[in-house]
Amino acid sequence: MNLILIKLSKKFKFKLTFIFIYLIILIRLFNIFIFKFNFMLIDTHAHINFKDFKIDAEETIQRALDKNIWMIIVGSEYKTSQRSIKYANKYEKGIYSAIGLHPVHLEDIKIENKSKDNSYSFYSRAEEFNYDLYKKLATFEKVVAIGEIGLDYFHIDSKNDILKVKKKQQDVFRQQLELAIKSNLPVIIHCREAHEDLINILKSFKKEYKNFLPKDKPWGVVHCFSGDEDLAWQYFSLGLIISFNGLITFSKTWDDLIRKMPLEKFIIETDCPYLTPEPYRGKRNEPLFVQYVANRIAEIKKLDIKKIAEVSTNNARNLFNV
Ligand SMILES: [Zn+2]
Repeated sequence: MNLILIKLSKKFKFKLTFIFIYLIILIRLFNIFIFKFNFMLIDTHAHINFKDFKIDAEETIQRALDKNIWMIIVGSEYKTSQRSIKYANKYEKGIYSAIGLHPVHLEDIKIENKSKDNSYSFYSRAEEFNYDLYKKLATFEKVVAIGEIGLDYFHIDSKNDILKVKKKQQDVFRQQLELAIKSNLPVIIHCREAHEDLINILKSFKKEYKNFLPKDKPWGVVHCFSGDEDLAWQYFSLGLIISFNGLITFSKTWDDLIRKMPLEKFIIETDCPYLTPEPYRGKRNEPLFVQYVANRIAEIKKLDIKKIAEVSTNNARNLFNV
């Protein structure tokens, strides 16, 4: 009798161990599932193609992908646009490219910013916008947007003819808006101290091309949004959405706007290597840190981080068709 009991308990023990291991595997799989699908984020504006990531671009991309963070690598001139495609092509999924000529690259200028949070310095050699060359880049499968394009009156070199530079910026911006329509791609817009002129260009563009713009979804994003509520609603009514980055983790300027803005009107970004969010302020920014931007929006809107991750990711996927 005793022997039978021992045999039974051995069998039972074996079964228990088996059930236990099975349960652990199930929990692990469940965790991976929850993590992968509830906390997916998209950094919609990353400059991994800039010299700051020359040595470790691929490790930086991988660090983000390991945490289920996708990204759009944004070009600012022909060379960095080409490079963004080169990186995107190395990955089957999750890494995409935007190509365009940024307004600061239209003149020879030394760009310098010595603020503690956002220090950078580079010399920009003027690039002549070549529509056909950019059109060719836009045909690559991984290119999901034309950007970054726009107006930047803050960085104009005072030694240059300011009116002439502004005129050139506006002209190149219009050409790239047309390129986007003809390539069936959304736009990523940069704007600094030029919102009035930008809105006027967008209004007339929208009027001219209204039959070609998508009606049921946005056709572009104003990245690194720095305006007020009134301006945000002007962009919304033009069919655009706005994007926030690390700035909102150390400035309360946009808290009210973030609280009030509809959930379908925003996406998130890092603009790395610049504008590093708290708690990494002062260090080089990278796509992994986009989680702190999502977290701050969740705090301000008093919503669960999962909800912010879900809506910002859906908004980005909808805008960029990824
Ligand atoms: Zn940028």
